[in-house]
Amino acid sequence: MIKKLVLSFPVDATDRPLIYDLIRVHDVSINILKAEIQPGKTGSLLAEFEADERGIDEAIAYLNDNGVTVSPVSSKVSYDRERCINCGSCVSACFSRALSIGAPEWILRFDPERCIACKLCLKACPLRLFKIEFAEV
Ligand code: SF4
Ligand code: SF4
Repeated sequence: MIKKLVLSFPVDATDRPLIYDLIRVHDVSINILKAEIQPGKTGSLLAEFEADERGIDEAIAYLNDNGVTVSPVSSKVSYDRERCINCGSCVSACFSRALSIGAPEWILRFDPERCIACKLCLKACPLRLFKIEFAEV
């Protein structure tokens, strides 16, 4: 399973290799989507954790034990359908196949369940029709 999480690091945790430990010891795959971390300051990280349910629970418990607050997050990608010219540029960029265009209508379709909030479509669209919002749940 994949879970999208926001990690909030206290000052004394930003210089410890917690993410490295999660990958090495707890066997969790981590895809970092956004990071604001500097040694000696509080930090935050938006990331996808991939493992079985138990592995993700153990990873969250490990982070909590080290003072890191973990919150699930939902991301919402949307685009301006009215202005879309169905050029397909965003479809080529979307490797998770959340975006598609096909017969018979040849109009852009978006499957939010497949979206991993990678933001590649934001740059790919020549008309800049995409926007993304993150919200803790
Ligand atoms: S954010 Fe990434 S996964 Fe989601 S629609 Fe855009 S390109 Fe596809
Ligand atoms: S790149 Fe923009 S204009 Fe082209 S299909 Fe995607 S959303 Fe529509």
